[in-house]
Amino acid sequence: MAHEVRRPRVLVIGQGAREHAIVWKLAQSASRPELYAAPGNPGMAAWAEIAPIAASDHGALIRFCQDKGIDLVVVGPEQPLAEGLADALAEAGIAVFGPSREAAQIEASKAFSKRVMAEAGVPTARHRTFSDVEEARAYVREQGAPIVVKADGLAAGKGVVVAETVAEAEAALEEMLVGGRFGASGRRVVIEEFMRGVELSLMYFVDAHTAVPMLPARDFKRLLDGDRGPNTGGMGAFSPVPRVTQDVIDRVTGEIVRPTIARLREMGILYRGVLYAGLMLTDDGPKVVEFNCRFGDPETEVVLPLFAGDLFEVMWAVAHDRLQPDMIAWRQDAAVCVVMASTGYPATAETGVPIELPGALPEGVTVFHAGTRLGEGGRLETAGGRVLTVAAVGEDVPAALHRAYAAVSSIRFSGAQYRRDIAHNWQS
Ligand code: AMP
Repeated sequence: MAHEVRRPRVLVIGQGAREHAIVWKLAQSASRPELYAAPGNPGMAAWAEIAPIAASDHGALIRFCQDKGIDLVVVGPEQPLAEGLADALAEAGIAVFGPSREAAQIEASKAFSKRVMAEAGVPTARHRTFSDVEEARAYVREQGAPIVVKADGLAAGKGVVVAETVAEAEAALEEMLVGGRFGASGRRVVIEEFMRGVELSLMYFVDAHTAVPMLPARDFKRLLDGDRGPNTGGMGAFSPVPRVTQDVIDRVTGEIVRPTIARLREMGILYRGVLYAGLMLTDDGPKVVEFNCRFGDPETEVVLPLFAGDLFEVMWAVAHDRLQPDMIAWRQDAAVCVVMASTGYPATAETGVPIELPGALPEGVTVFHAGTRLGEGGRLETAGGRVLTVAAVGEDVPAALHRAYAAVSSIRFSGAQYRRDIAHNWQS
């Protein structure tokens, strides 16, 4: 009997639609990895064995990896990276896709990322950092509006107030510095110049030697149609973005991403994993809005369906500093995703509401789970703010858009909210 080659074993950490998309894409790899997810969600169970271990329980995760002989761990969310999960795994001799705690500060501390950008000469909004509310107030009055107030630490994409008036900015300062909203993450604030322009998300696979861009994407952060309402974790996305030419991508790579990684290296910090650049295309060229230390959510749900390479091969190569640009290839299609959220999101979320999914989905459509769980009798129900991301691929953005919304209208849960205008501006 021929000896069967042992399939690689991969553990994906996280429980959102982003991690569902990673698991789904890894399952298509030629080496047919055996997949595990912790803590996972019901949507991932089709592809991965679910291990009910919290991402914060490093000890239990390491024991799980040792018991199961895990070859590679992929860390999805920022919180465990900021808490040093990649370092703990590496110390235990387990290969990991995701940056170290120090490198993850590029997202976890806005003050740190601003310092790195200043030292690397990377274009970004002028800013100052404050912990004293009176000094912050005086600065806002002097600068005038519009102006942007950000909690320094992690706040699940919700710690940013784009203030149209000085009064609005002062209210945000009061809430963060005095009211304790966002807890320790908001005890320091960054006050930034407002940048005018079109936004762009560009993610890179990065190892010690190489940084390779993925396809450009645009996400929709506001809750309501017409970009109104509060900021959320993200309500939808599309990719690629026609106006983002290869020239723009090359500029971001050369003027922003390479110098940032080089500066980190000079500081003794090697970056491995995904570096996400949130950018504003201003009249003066691309400028950084923020860096993230991991895949974007929901951008991943449109970028990975277009990926034509082998995701396991790429992640394995990144973890071992063997990334080659020709490992990254893309389909000549477009993708759109629409997030379906619970009533009350983003302030609160009604949970435990039954979800009805259609028996069959239209061609090119994938439903990625986020806040879902199995309730009584194994029935699928809501378990959080963002519930499902409905992603569709088509030959162009309008075709993908049409498919995504056709699928959304076939999915039902009481109180579902979603935007009707995702990708409406795809040509701008
Ligand atoms: P962030 O969490 O830093 O990405 O900010 C959330 C959103 O706020 C961004 O996607 C932008 O739409 C907006 N934003 C953040 N910083 C600025 C800025 N300096 N100028 C204009 N808009 C900004």
